[in-house]
Amino acid sequence: MENFKRKHDYEGLLVVIEGTDGSGKSTQLELLKRYMQDMSYGVMVSEWKTSRLIAKVIDEAKERNLLNASTYSLLYAADFADRLENQIIPALNAGFIVLLDRYYYTALARDVVRGQDIEWVKNLYEFAPEPDLVFYLDMPVDILLKRIIGTTGLDFYESGRDVGFSTDFYKSFEIYQNRCLEEYNRMKSEYGFISIDGTKSIEEIHNEMKHHVQEILDTGILD
Ligand code: ADP
Repeated sequence: MENFKRKHDYEGLLVVIEGTDGSGKSTQLELLKRYMQDMSYGVMVSEWKTSRLIAKVIDEAKERNLLNASTYSLLYAADFADRLENQIIPALNAGFIVLLDRYYYTALARDVVRGQDIEWVKNLYEFAPEPDLVFYLDMPVDILLKRIIGTTGLDFYESGRDVGFSTDFYKSFEIYQNRCLEEYNRMKSEYGFISIDGTKSIEEIHNEMKHHVQEILDTGILD
């Protein structure tokens, strides 16, 4: 690759891993982080809904079933804004590789499925810098279901139970996740996702991601 151009005005590199819950994001994030650190790059990792300011409020509101579609959107956007200002931008300014588990595409998928107007959500996240790379882990819902049931179990919100698609946990998960997948599919070309088959082995997926990252690093952009 010649003449790689960043999609933002900062010194570092912004790399995002997107996908539904259980698609393998944190597994891949950890592997990429180690790979980059082994090459002596400064790496900063940040995950969706981990702001020290807001995340607890979201968890509390979820536990008490207090979130409606608008407060859901706004609180998640506030969580993101806090991490952007306090973690992501400072790290980018310092020339770090910033590795993110989910980005505003998650909000675009979930909020739209919860009935928000897409332009309203896009405007809400207008302040977010464009990432240099977005990996999307593509997973069919039936395989996702097996993986989730075998590990974390079905989460109330990740099953869209708050939206009221169905009182049946499995059915609700299926409908909600399929609707989210439709949104992600629509975003693939709009945002230039690098779509990776999430059913491949952990190593195969890692190798694909490494290849794309290495292509950019080989241009010497961070040297
Ligand atoms: P996410 O962060 O997207 O929720 P995780 O990385 O936590 O997903 O993975 C969910 C589960 O699936 C974990 O138990 C993980 O070990 C397993 N897993 C991750 N990637 C793969 C893969 N490619 N093949 C099979 N299992 C995987």
